[in-house]
Amino acid sequence: MRAVDIIEKKRNGETLTHEEIQFFVNGFTNGDIPDYQTSAWAMAVLFQGMTPKETADLTMAMAYSGNVIDLSDVVDLALDKHSTGGVGDKTTLVVEPIVNACGVPVGKMSGRGLSFTGGTLDKMESIPGFNASLTIEEFKHQLKTVGLVLAGQTGDLAPADGKLYALRDVTGTVPSIPLIASSVMSKKLASGAQAIVLDVKVGFGAFMPDVQQARELAELMVEIGVHADRKVVALLSDMNQPLGRAVGNSLEVKEAIATLKGQGPDDFRDHCYEVVAHMLILAGKAKNVEEGRELAAKAVESGKAIERFTALVAAQGGDTTVIEHPEQFPRAEFIQEIPSPITGSIHQIHAREVGLTVMQLGGGRERKGDPIDHAVGVVLHHRVGDNVERGGTLFTLHANDEDKAAQAVQRLLAATKISQKQAEPLPLFYGSVWPEG
Ligand code: URA
Repeated sequence: MRAVDIIEKKRNGETLTHEEIQFFVNGFTNGDIPDYQTSAWAMAVLFQGMTPKETADLTMAMAYSGNVIDLSDVVDLALDKHSTGGVGDKTTLVVEPIVNACGVPVGKMSGRGLSFTGGTLDKMESIPGFNASLTIEEFKHQLKTVGLVLAGQTGDLAPADGKLYALRDVTGTVPSIPLIASSVMSKKLASGAQAIVLDVKVGFGAFMPDVQQARELAELMVEIGVHADRKVVALLSDMNQPLGRAVGNSLEVKEAIATLKGQGPDDFRDHCYEVVAHMLILAGKAKNVEEGRELAAKAVESGKAIERFTALVAAQGGDTTVIEHPEQFPRAEFIQEIPSPITGSIHQIHAREVGLTVMQLGGGRERKGDPIDHAVGVVLHHRVGDNVERGGTLFTLHANDEDKAAQAVQRLLAATKISQKQAEPLPLFYGSVWPEG
């Protein structure tokens, strides 16, 4: 077999066989197929697409390109959630402790932020001392003894995806439904997840700009999960505006802590409870979404959820005093309110623009491995659909550089559309996708 024949076959819109996909994935993982051929192939896939069978074959080949973790000796059901990435998405920090407070162990391997999207590990590392680098043995031990783990990808999991994703990131080939589906699902399968709630983001701050494409992605991932004998459900959730009020690492952790104490913003809380409810259904702890939401609310009201978050932070070496005293998180040097230039109704707070603003303030990274500033970010005072007075606060900016702060003000104002016509609030969810039958 030759890589060039496989590239040409896909370029011509033909369907690749299981063997061809396996050959290509093996080849680029071990370096036999060079980056330029892998990139050309990814572009061919982006334009020509893949059948569900090809996507399933690609997923399995990538999942088994490295270690595959087996958690069945540690938990009855390895439960996981995965978001396709967004702005202000600190859902994992809230959902994991709540699910655990409901009696279900959760061990999650998370990623770091890139470009406009934030990463769960970066957020957690704004807690002084928190260690996200665990070995597989440490991960398993903590899952067994504490019931809750939040770590970076441990071991050599789905190395094919790591390589391919890095190339896609710099060759304009990220927004391909089969490539995203196989990337997400290969990592989930390799990390041992047996039941997965997928949070598929839709809108300006997501890879999928509209509901139809997001649904297509969700259906494909659910189908792959079923094929691989996993329990899986996907939610379609809004990412036109940032999730919650805070964007930026330590600001988001503070919002997560407030939410776990029952003091977070209503819409972010509702988003989290919906995700928890679906996780509890997969775990057999709730009969339906309503019951799941009620269990989530009880876990927060009883104080159990914040107690589990504290146990998680303590187990991974973090300083738990910031949980009781969030004012002790490092503060940015320049904190400034941004007033509305006009009176009117808010039609848009462009999530991607807000994410990029925070990245430029130093809160995110342009390239893998860049250092980040945990203290900077933006707090939104309004949601789409709210009315605002001229001079009323739209955002609070947290910056450590005056020039960057000035640029951020302009960018945030440009990202916000206000007009005299009354705006409608955005929904939190656009539906869910369950396996057929
Ligand atoms: N998240 C992933 O893990 N992979 C993608 O391709 C896109 C989002």
